[in-house]
Amino acid sequence: MVAIRVADLHKHYGEIHAVDGVSFSVGEGEVYALLGENGAGKSTTVEILEGHRRATSGTATVLGHDPTDADRELRDRIGVVLQSSGVEGEFTVREVVELYSSVYRTRRGLDEVVGLVGLDDQVDQRVGSLSGGQRRRVDLALGIVGRPDVLFLDEPTTGFDPAARRRSWDLVESLCDDGVTVLLTTHYLDEAERLADRVGVLAAGRLIAEGTPAELIEGISGTVVSFMLPESVAPADAAATLGAVLGAEVRVSGRLVEATVDRPTSTVHRATGWALDQGIELEGLTVKRASLEDVYLQLVERAAAP
Ligand code: ATP
Repeated sequence: MVAIRVADLHKHYGEIHAVDGVSFSVGEGEVYALLGENGAGKSTTVEILEGHRRATSGTATVLGHDPTDADRELRDRIGVVLQSSGVEGEFTVREVVELYSSVYRTRRGLDEVVGLVGLDDQVDQRVGSLSGGQRRRVDLALGIVGRPDVLFLDEPTTGFDPAARRRSWDLVESLCDDGVTVLLTTHYLDEAERLADRVGVLAAGRLIAEGTPAELIEGISGTVVSFMLPESVAPADAAATLGAVLGAEVRVSGRLVEATVDRPTSTVHRATGWALDQGIELEGLTVKRASLEDVYLQLVERAAAP
């Protein structure tokens, strides 16, 4: 079953085409991550789906409903973590969670919610006195308090410390195990790679790539072989000399030598064979599969090229 459907969606602000013909759908229980540079149109798309903005044209439905109608049945079934929180600072965590939970027909109890987001020790603290990352956890708490079927997460972990980010990933995964559909926007590519079943990349209001993280990684680039420039090779000659040694195009930035190749075995063999002949050690020799971040950077670079 499709939980979210977007078809030929457009949103214009005067001359600015913030969303320019975007189509995608998200199945029930799926995590879909929208990626893209600042201003690519992610929040605008998500805010149309949340019912906070009206599309210029095209279709956006959530659980079969038009979000701009904002009917009670839909409101009860969606949870929202906005990019910037509007929570009043003078309330305590307990007060805001109880206030927000009162509008939902099905809800989580206070203890469960603060436990899930890791705010057990701050329940009676005023929101205004929390740290940035803790305040963001309050936003997350308010997104899940109504036991939503569909959860919109707009850059949910900005400001989180590494342990809190990992805890929130576990939380999203456990919500998905319970069948919750998640539409996520994030600038953390490791977050998208870990959480998303599928990823859509937006550039200038258009969807330029879509697929599972594995499909995107396989589709676009190979494996990166890297090591530190040996002292015996002059930096000025490094790209040519090592390019000939490896039989591949080589990038040299500072002392880092990198080659992106399809067949890393022969590249490593050539590199290590050459180093042994020279009687030197290849410092920092690494073989790394391209990450979603490498793919993403290639995609947005290509989209920006004239
Ligand atoms: P970020 O990663 O920075 O959050 P985003 O991908 O979410 O970016 P949007 O917030 O959707 O991007 O903005 C898309 C474009 O629409 C930008 O060029 C932005 O300046 C423009 N825009 C957004 N809201 C308005 C508005 N209310 N009036 C005019 N232009 C707007």
